[in-house]
Amino acid sequence: MDLQLKDKVALVTGSTAGIGFAITSRLASEGAEVVVNGRTNEHVSEAVARITKRFSAANLRGIAADLGSAEGCNEVVRQLPRVDILVNNAGIFEPKPFEQISDTDWEKFFAVNVMSGVRLSRSYLPEMKKRNWGRIVFISSESALQIPAEMIHYGTTKTAQLAVARGMAETCAGTEVTVNSVLPGPTASEGVTEFVDQLAKQNQQTPHEFEKEFFRSVRPTSILKRFIKPDEIANVVAFVCSPLASAINGAAVRADGGVVRAIA
Ligand code: NAD
Repeated sequence: MDLQLKDKVALVTGSTAGIGFAITSRLASEGAEVVVNGRTNEHVSEAVARITKRFSAANLRGIAADLGSAEGCNEVVRQLPRVDILVNNAGIFEPKPFEQISDTDWEKFFAVNVMSGVRLSRSYLPEMKKRNWGRIVFISSESALQIPAEMIHYGTTKTAQLAVARGMAETCAGTEVTVNSVLPGPTASEGVTEFVDQLAKQNQQTPHEFEKEFFRSVRPTSILKRFIKPDEIANVVAFVCSPLASAINGAAVRADGGVVRAIA
């Protein structure tokens, strides 16, 4: 299927690794001009080189900026005034007991997971509406609907993303601009794989044993019963970004391996 993304300019935040990297690769393979973002020039250049090695025709640029601050977001907008597709992917997670989550933690999680998407969307949405075409996708999480007791601050920011996306979609009524969220389930990104390897070692398990046990006791509602591959999320996101997905608007699209036990 041709996703009709040629000539579209896409910005994927936090895309030097994990799900963001996979989304960037997928959009680039579809002919979009994609901007890679990470916090350091080194990681951004590395990611651009890795994707170019895979798809020699990839049309890529990189912008290093920390999106956990207004300055970082402004810098991206300064270097990239026009965007057709904005994927708000940059995000952080960290298990911590509720009693130990400080104000600083809460503020940091909101800054990176929510405000980065708010600030960039506020900058790019008006022009999308003027051109009468655009796509904004927030990479939320199944944790938006099933708040993990071990990281309530993370879950809360993921729910907030759903609210922001739905509210923004309402402002696009009657236009060809869509704003949606995609909700991945447990995905074997670099960040999660590192975390799993550490926990497996602590529990004297192989990563495979850990995975089996994780889906037996921690995420028993998963129908997939394995970690999702970042490319599997990227396929869903690329479709939502496509002109072919024009009827999907204001939606929370689950790509969670069935973890969320709800029909609607
Ligand atoms: P990851 O840790 O593997 O990669 C995160 C990326 O974001 C990296 O490129 C990192 O450099 C970048 N990043 C972090 N803070 C940043 C900042 N301040 N400014 C710019 N870039 C920054 O993460 P991932 O697992 O691929 O997660 C990506 C998104 O998917 C996150 O929003 C996460 O909440 C969401 N998600 C992940 C999972 C999962 O199981 N992996 C599940 C549901 C949702």
